[in-house]
Amino acid sequence: MTATNPVANLQTLIRCPSVTPAEGGALSALEAMLSPLGFKVDRVVAKEAGTPDVENLYARLGTEGPHLMFAGHTDVVPVGDEGAWTHPPFAAEIANGELFGRGAVDMKGGIACFAAAVARHVEKHGAPKGSISFLITGDEEGPSINGTIKLLQWATEHGETWDACVVGEPTNPNKLGDMIKIGRRGSLSGKIVVHGVQGHAAYPHLADNPVRGMLQLTQALMDPPFDAGTDNFQPSNLEVTTIDVGNPATNVIPARASASFNIRFNDTWTADTLQADIIRRLDAAAADGALRPGREPVKYEIIWADRPSHVFLTRNNALIASLSSAVESVTGASPALSTAGGTSDARFIKDYCPVVEFGLVGQTMHMVDERVAVADLETLTAIYETFIERWFENAGV
Ligand SMILES: [Zn+2]
Repeated sequence: MTATNPVANLQTLIRCPSVTPAEGGALSALEAMLSPLGFKVDRVVAKEAGTPDVENLYARLGTEGPHLMFAGHTDVVPVGDEGAWTHPPFAAEIANGELFGRGAVDMKGGIACFAAAVARHVEKHGAPKGSISFLITGDEEGPSINGTIKLLQWATEHGETWDACVVGEPTNPNKLGDMIKIGRRGSLSGKIVVHGVQGHAAYPHLADNPVRGMLQLTQALMDPPFDAGTDNFQPSNLEVTTIDVGNPATNVIPARASASFNIRFNDTWTADTLQADIIRRLDAAAADGALRPGREPVKYEIIWADRPSHVFLTRNNALIASLSSAVESVTGASPALSTAGGTSDARFIKDYCPVVEFGLVGQTMHMVDERVAVADLETLTAIYETFIERWFENAGV
């Protein structure tokens, strides 16, 4: 009846084919796990013109503070070549100590373990001295428009506030307990267009080749490095992702060249200071005559992509210490506190409360034969249960 067994929880969730944006029965299954524990469950459908409606779930146990949120998603990526799976992707079969299925690690496994941890906590101690909530979206692997952002807004409009959040994405590179993510780099993209003058390749003085100017500008974006990294972050890094001229003729100097770039940046920068630095680099390179001696500065424009992701670093001691000490007491090793990797929904949650990420081992996520060691489900449940106990002790002080 109660959801204390993470393996059974996960099998139930995997058997719901919830490929984004389908609910697939996964949120109903989770509701059936949480309701008997005393959670008040809301199913929130988010809509936006031009995108499919997506169902999300918010569930809360308790009415008082302190308030701990667990966040994640029940949607999964498509299975790919179903015939290539050793065990069918929605069958949740166990073989040689591993549980197979789409979403096993990303991230129905994390949800199954957190639900089991809460169920065990309630069974042993009764309701927590405070509140626990689940904020679960069905739109993380898709466009992420009708998911976490709107669910956070909905909950806030209904008076919800939180003191801390754990996102259950698979954060461990090799073995369970390796790594807690305590922040993420920011991400900023842009496109440069260089305007030249079209002409005959044999008469370059009558033309102005934009490729020369583009080479100077892209060089200036990559060198010198933006920074050397900080205590908690890798060095910021810019990659030029495409350079386009689209000129089929060998005897024509083209009129125009464009290039796109993406930069992953650390807490040395904000999106604004970084944009200003990039423009400073481009202006200096545009005026440099190395590849265009005697010419006017390169004529260029820059178009910034919408909505950069901002860098963030969580510095909440009760949260980080409770989780890393729980990992250490269950696994015997202390986890690395990392900010590496791509973005996640934590980037939205950080505007509401301190957030960290910790879940299963990510090696098979999005792959054929996605699977999790059954033993890891037990270990993660034990870690989450210890964490819940310690967080309420620490947050109450
Ligand atoms: Zn995920």
